[in-house]
Amino acid sequence: MSMVAIKNCPDYTLNVMMDKLDEGIDLLGGWGRFITPGMKVLLKVNLIGPKPSDSAAITHAEFVRALTRMLKAHHCTVWIGDSSGGAIAGIAPTARSLVISGLQEVAESEGAVIKNFDKEGVVPVKSTIDSKPMYLAKPLFEADLVINLPKLKTHSASMYTGAVKNLYGCIPGLRKAEYHRLAPDQFALGHVIADINTAVNAGLHIMDGVIAMQGNGPTAGKAYPAKKILFSTDPLALDIVAAAMIGLSIDDIPILVSARQRGLGEASLSKITIRGDYPAPPQLAGFRLPKGSRILATDKRVHRFLGKVIDIMKARPRIITKLCRGCNMCVESCPVQAIHPETMAINYTICIECMCCHELCMHQAVKLKRDNPVMELAARLDPRMRS
Ligand code: SF4
Ligand code: SF4
Repeated sequence: MSMVAIKNCPDYTLNVMMDKLDEGIDLLGGWGRFITPGMKVLLKVNLIGPKPSDSAAITHAEFVRALTRMLKAHHCTVWIGDSSGGAIAGIAPTARSLVISGLQEVAESEGAVIKNFDKEGVVPVKSTIDSKPMYLAKPLFEADLVINLPKLKTHSASMYTGAVKNLYGCIPGLRKAEYHRLAPDQFALGHVIADINTAVNAGLHIMDGVIAMQGNGPTAGKAYPAKKILFSTDPLALDIVAAAMIGLSIDDIPILVSARQRGLGEASLSKITIRGDYPAPPQLAGFRLPKGSRILATDKRVHRFLGKVIDIMKARPRIITKLCRGCNMCVESCPVQAIHPETMAINYTICIECMCCHELCMHQAVKLKRDNPVMELAARLDPRMRS
């Protein structure tokens, strides 16, 4: 039976957090279950873009510092790695993200090694949605243990992003956009992500839910002090519990429906043992969901049948030109070249609604709007969907 441990953690004070992390790991069987001295341990963070830790968009640098220090005390070599989304002139902004996040400083001061996934080479793995192999960052296969460090966040396209989806960053640089093109709906994207989870086989998942992100995540939402850390060896079970904390079930999150189909872990909340500070998922009062549609995802056929209804409900990206700084990140990152580089108009006949532009704009110039004015008004009145 899969187990998820939940510990309260009031803030990112280092000593307090290290105690909470130790207590959570003890509930899973202790560090000795996962590591031995001399092991190379890769901390796969969420470094979605060049955002500071206090933005709540990324795994907090102090969270990573705490784990680095603990692993070093167990005589492990620590690597910190990810690939940010987006690209400018063909170069993903991972190096800049590492500096702005504070992770570069953590690595330098704690004796860890940065692994910028865009520069470390790749390893081919099996893809179930493409005849060609998928390429993932090499350090994932050179480490003795991968510890996945997702952030508790909403996501405007997938509703929620956690442990399962965090491994999407294992695809280096521009290739992420290519897989968005190959997998134009969330169910198909879920299968891409399931392929990655299967190939990487992370041994431990620890979610930074100390300061979560609510509203229009994964970058433009608002911080929510959830004050929780979640631990599990089962990424799907961890996500089922975290989703329950924010009022969602698996059928609200197509990526997790695909993960269930692929047997990535335990998908039934009633079959997950919960330990630590709570006997059941604690509800995060007033937590706001994204403004995008809340998809009732049962299976692919039902999803298609409801397509027209969802089209009325859903939000689409629009670029607010007076907020746009002309950085070109959205234009370069759009997997189907739907954004006109001069007018910034989006061609909705080819837009696949991957939300990359909304996700990556660091100036909040890409807003989510509903075409249907009644639905737009309804969304504004629903406090759970307000951005
Ligand atoms: S919309 Fe945002 S990402 Fe796109 S060019 Fe303008 S500022 Fe850059
Ligand atoms: S315009 Fe935005 S949402 Fe549409 S395909 Fe391009 S990046 Fe994705």
